[in-house]
Amino acid sequence: MRVRTRFAPSPTGYLHIGGLRTALYAYLWAKKNGGDFILRIEDTDRNRLVEDACEIIYRTLKDTGLVYDEGPDVGGDYGPYIQSERKQLYIDTAKELVERGAAYYCFCTKERLQKLHEDAGGAAVKYDKHCLSLSKEEVERRIAAGEEYVIRQNIGTEGTAEYDDLVYGHISVPLADMEDQILLKSDGMPTYNLANVVDDHYMKISHVIRGMEYLSSTPKYNMLYDALGWERPVYIHLPPVMKDKTRKLSKRYGDASYEDFIGKGYLKEAVINYIALLGWNPGDNREIFTLEELTEAFDLKGISKSPSIFDNDKLTWMNAEYIRAMDDETFKKKAAPYVVSSVGEGFDLDIIAGLIKPRIETWNQIGEMIGFLRDLPEYDTSFFFNKKTKCTPEKSVDMLIAAKEELEKLRAFDVVSIHDSMIALAEKLEVKNGLLLWPLRIALSGQLVTPGGAIEIAALLGKEESIRRIDKALSMLS
Ligand code: GLU
Repeated sequence: MRVRTRFAPSPTGYLHIGGLRTALYAYLWAKKNGGDFILRIEDTDRNRLVEDACEIIYRTLKDTGLVYDEGPDVGGDYGPYIQSERKQLYIDTAKELVERGAAYYCFCTKERLQKLHEDAGGAAVKYDKHCLSLSKEEVERRIAAGEEYVIRQNIGTEGTAEYDDLVYGHISVPLADMEDQILLKSDGMPTYNLANVVDDHYMKISHVIRGMEYLSSTPKYNMLYDALGWERPVYIHLPPVMKDKTRKLSKRYGDASYEDFIGKGYLKEAVINYIALLGWNPGDNREIFTLEELTEAFDLKGISKSPSIFDNDKLTWMNAEYIRAMDDETFKKKAAPYVVSSVGEGFDLDIIAGLIKPRIETWNQIGEMIGFLRDLPEYDTSFFFNKKTKCTPEKSVDMLIAAKEELEKLRAFDVVSIHDSMIALAEKLEVKNGLLLWPLRIALSGQLVTPGGAIEIAALLGKEESIRRIDKALSMLS
């Protein structure tokens, strides 16, 4: 059997992290087995259609490396891959199910259904199979008369429906708990119940990998496979991704989409690596995986049943690992736009990259870390006190005057020249380097903590701005 998996999102306008994990597992299982990964857009719920929503899905999957072999924008032998373009297939299948006794036409009006609901005191009620008893002739007459109808699944009332899920094990649901739900709506569009079965069959999907919210309705879908004489796929239902012990990770809480994480300065490789481990255990202590390594290591046996809690700190840690592992050139290239957007052009990127690479965890920390280069923050003279170097505001005045004099003399204002001149100055003044460099760094940055020291900061600011900042400190100290 050729392994064929699919990712079947609804076009909601964003790709939820839980959805991306489903796509990832489906991709990994297909690729591990040399099979096909298919993208199918489930857009039969037309109210939810969001413009550009499909583009976001295509872009995210390609961006993260989850390249699909078949899909709406790439084609394939089993298309179309957008459900709204497969309407006739659902209609034909629904009629076939009626022929086989597994479904029936229903003409019940909204008012009748509403009345059932009211008679039950407003409680949720199951459809009462009212139209199941209509004769073939009556059905034909009412259709010919142009009456609106839906097609409902005909589910028995006794016994249980069972199947084995690869993650959750044996699932058994009493038929009495099920309802004769709609398969084909009055506008000719299928519901999920019908469409997922028709598509998975005709697209030759071997393994259905999806969220566990479908776990208990799958027996109903299986009845459709059985009625049509189709082979059931293998089922792998995935545990939910949680925000905490009780709440699911959701768009409502602000940060559940892939694009949000990218917008917050995370690397796509880190996001993919992190979500791979959300619900799947490689069986050893490894934590850092490329997509290729994941493909190699992935195994359905490692999928856990229990909900996984999304741990932002862990993702941040992992992101930092990816940043540190980058070679300097790649880092510089990727960091450049963030540097420019936080401090503008004109700063030496090599120096900045060297300073921030060991320190940032996400791209968005760059602005916070180097913003002082563009605007000197407000600070107060207490910053000039420092125990370790025995610095005081008084001593700072002497050090800054001397430093300024030397710096003004420099022709080349680069790290090496500044370094040599400051070391020589400390020697001449017979003070420790720290006593000279502490006040200089405060004056240049206005901050107690900076990436890099006074020398790199001076080189980044350039001579004129460095002198201006020293003068400002001297006027504050006088
Ligand atoms: N459109 C469904 C969803 O987004 C797909 C479920 C499935 O994979 O079958 O939840």
